Amino acid sequence: MNKEQTIVAVLASAELPTLPTVASEIITLTAREDTTLADIGDLVSKDTGLSAKILKVSNSSFYSFPQQISSINQAVSILGINAVRSLVLSFSFLTMKAGKKKGHFNFENFWKISLAQAVASKLILEHVQGANTEEIFVCGLLQNLGELIFACTFPDEYEDVLQKIREEQHDALNTEEEAFGTSHPAVGYEVAKSWGFPEVLLLPILYHHDPSLYKDGDQKIETTIKALYLSDLLISILYSDKPQEYHKRFRKEAKKLLGLKDKDVEHIFNEVHTQVDNAGQYFGLRIKNTKSVQEILQEANIRLSLMNLDFDQMNKELLKTKMELENLTEELETKNKFLANLANLDGLTEIYNHRFFQNSLDNEISRATRNETKLSLLLIDIDFFKKFNDTYGHQVGDFILKEFSRVLLESIRKYDTLARYGGEEFTVILPDTSSGDALKVAEKLRTAVDDFVFEDPKDTYHITASFGVATAQPAIIDQFKKSDLINQADAALYDAKEAGRNRVSAYSTKKKWYKF
Ligand code: GH3
Ligand code: MG
Ligand code: MG
Repeated sequence: MNKEQTIVAVLASAELPTLPTVASEIITLTAREDTTLADIGDLVSKDTGLSAKILKVSNSSFYSFPQQISSINQAVSILGINAVRSLVLSFSFLTMKAGKKKGHFNFENFWKISLAQAVASKLILEHVQGANTEEIFVCGLLQNLGELIFACTFPDEYEDVLQKIREEQHDALNTEEEAFGTSHPAVGYEVAKSWGFPEVLLLPILYHHDPSLYKDGDQKIETTIKALYLSDLLISILYSDKPQEYHKRFRKEAKKLLGLKDKDVEHIFNEVHTQVDNAGQYFGLRIKNTKSVQEILQEANIRLSLMNLDFDQMNKELLKTKMELENLTEELETKNKFLANLANLDGLTEIYNHRFFQNSLDNEISRATRNETKLSLLLIDIDFFKKFNDTYGHQVGDFILKEFSRVLLESIRKYDTLARYGGEEFTVILPDTSSGDALKVAEKLRTAVDDFVFEDPKDTYHITASFGVATAQPAIIDQFKKSDLINQADAALYDAKEAGRNRVSAYSTKKKWYKF
């Protein structure tokens, strides 16, 4: 096929999309010299759905107007006729997107990329001093209209073209030329012309792939064409598999074509992904979490450095990463366990708290009842701790409480439960332990404390503690009560204090006191 044949076939095709009425009416209206702002306002207001969308965008960060725009007529007079036309056309095309699906062409993706290009074109032009940005959005959006037309009117042939471009990495324009004798810029241009589009919208479509071909010298059109050309490079950083190449080209060409400064280019890179996401929202396209240019380049760098490693090195790198990951997981598990346990732990000493002790004692009593075993309880109270605090200060007191807990913890068995009973009092539950054994445990703990040298950066300290021991075999006691066991341990502790402190006392049902 040659160019003429293709264009004739496209224009005559039953599959050629038709413009929505409001879009073609606004084109006709704006082409007339006597059209007033009110005429445009009236036309758009007739379509209430469209009016609502236009008002929403007008009041969004898309335009960032300081004042609230509350009617279409106000929008027309503030934004200008051309900007409103741009919005009407943009919405018209983006709602056409749900149309018939032909072949394998991904219409949804086409509009997503086109919307991103529209955003990019606008963003780029906003960095060019004195540039008119009223219509850049719709130009950016429709620059690749020809691709959509190919997909609608020659679905099979165009699918082959796309496949060739994809698989053999062929140049898109050349491949289109080979198949149709012309390419998408010319086809988009011809179709838009048949719809009555004005030159300001038409010529950018025709020249967006090669700004140097435009020679008519209209400043506005020329700048628009250059912005479209650059938008394609910018969007290719986000969506192609060669982001680094396009990044380099965009920097260079942006400087050359539009004289953008480095700081403008940086600003564009920083902004583009968020603006694309926002536009997706305003125009009802599912676009979310677009990656930033920086993130994409970082990822590409990592891929490149991995590609440069030989097989052995790569294995080592992967192994290292795997090990780092495993360590991290382990750390996380420990932290999670600690967090899950937080409600059961005492904030200062990080041993179990009173609540956990009470639950634990209930459980151990049930178990001892079931198994008909004995159960012992220690109550421990630090001697003269008030005086210790008064002498060294509360902070040293806290340090002692933490260290004291650690000393006790190191001297008990895995199945014993150490808890902070309150203040400077502690308790240990000793399951399956007779009175005699409990006395031995208590004595061991007492000596451990007595022998321990507490040491902080300033000084060393010595403390002692008194121990009360109570033992019971719940299965053989009528109406066994937990509080009785605790009270007995407390009574024994009191006795140890009375007898001079730094000692162990056991409570006996025969009211006979064992003392060390
Ligand atoms: P006794 O030998 O009779 O047990 O004398 P004591 O001074 O240890 O007993 P008392 O019950 O009169 O005082 C306990 C002291 O323990 C008072 C309080 O300041 C101190 N204490 C309780 N909880 C904490 C704490 O969390 N941190 C610090 N630093 N001290 C505490
Ligand atoms: Mg006390
Ligand atoms: Mg005390």
